[in-house]
Amino acid sequence: MTEKKWEQSVRKVIPYVPGEQPQETDVVKLNTNENPYPPCPSVRAVLDKFDISKMRLYPAPDAKVLVDAIAERYKLNPSQIFVGVGSDDVISMAFMTFFNSDKPILFPDITYSFYDVWADVYRIPYKTCPLNKDFTINPDDYKQENGGIIFPNPNAPTGVLESVDMIEDIVKSNPDSVVIIDEAYIDFAGAGKSCLPLIDKYDNLLVIQTYSKSRSMAGMRIGFAMGNEKLIKYMNDVKFSINSYTMNTVTQLCGAESMRDEAYFTETVEKIVRTRENAKKRLAELNFIFTDSMSNFIFASPQKKSAQYVFEELKKRKIYVRYWNKPVICDYLRISVGTDEEMEKLFNALEDIINENS
Ligand SMILES: *Cc1c(COP(=O)(O)O)cnc(C)c1O
Repeated sequence: MTEKKWEQSVRKVIPYVPGEQPQETDVVKLNTNENPYPPCPSVRAVLDKFDISKMRLYPAPDAKVLVDAIAERYKLNPSQIFVGVGSDDVISMAFMTFFNSDKPILFPDITYSFYDVWADVYRIPYKTCPLNKDFTINPDDYKQENGGIIFPNPNAPTGVLESVDMIEDIVKSNPDSVVIIDEAYIDFAGAGKSCLPLIDKYDNLLVIQTYSKSRSMAGMRIGFAMGNEKLIKYMNDVKFSINSYTMNTVTQLCGAESMRDEAYFTETVEKIVRTRENAKKRLAELNFIFTDSMSNFIFASPQKKSAQYVFEELKKRKIYVRYWNKPVICDYLRISVGTDEEMEKLFNALEDIINENS
């Protein structure tokens, strides 16, 4: 088809492809790293009490209740916190705010597949750094000239966790660029693994977290960045130049309430970690090769059948996992950690699929 004249001035992008959201209810959904448990019970009370006449009004543009609750939980000043509509929104704002150099930004070749999409849509040059054979990051790759650095820790879709010392080394080596650590899964990695304490020491470090995984609220869309107040101020300036009212009132209230229930948070995270560690044993028995994931998913490669075959067979049985037909990772499945019951269904199906003769 010939391009119309007006199409020449269209911003053309190849969009990010999120995991499937099947609409049937009888599926075992282990494909998008959602939390299998509901949000903390006090979120229910927020909804029950909500006065719908408040919907008439614009939401608080500074999302103060939410920012304050996050600040209290992480013992920070509210001026060190930026909130957005999911961490996807926060990361996208951070790309727009901080990555405006002519030098390429750096991220791993195997990582969250949204980074190159944001780089493309904002016309940011980028360079990917290959992971080591064991899927770890080589810190020396991040000591070349760059316009910024971003990677998740633990990394996605590998689940591999890097040490705080290694991240500090990268941040310290790059005083002239902003380094963003996407900690979407850090709550599943255990205490003391977040690089958040480093934000007081390095004004070029931005740490991003989300409510979508460890806080069971993917559908509410809440993410937040933590860093030096100068970084946060720059992000807010950009955000308020685009749309002041991104986060709705109900979401702000639910998010604040969820931050206050530490007991429920700890309990559900610990349950998921236990299920994950059990799943590693079962996968080993089925001869899968997998990384020692510190997240709420396992990146695993079947040995007796191809990953694509296992993916398709699972789908026939209404069990959804994630598969990418891409170099290096095409031998792997990414399996989100569900409830023990869901994992039992998965392993029963995997035993069938792996051991059948074909
Ligand atoms: C899930 C995920 C996000 C996005 O989370 P939202 O807060 O739901 O937008 C960001 N980064 C990584 C690495 C993720 O896996």
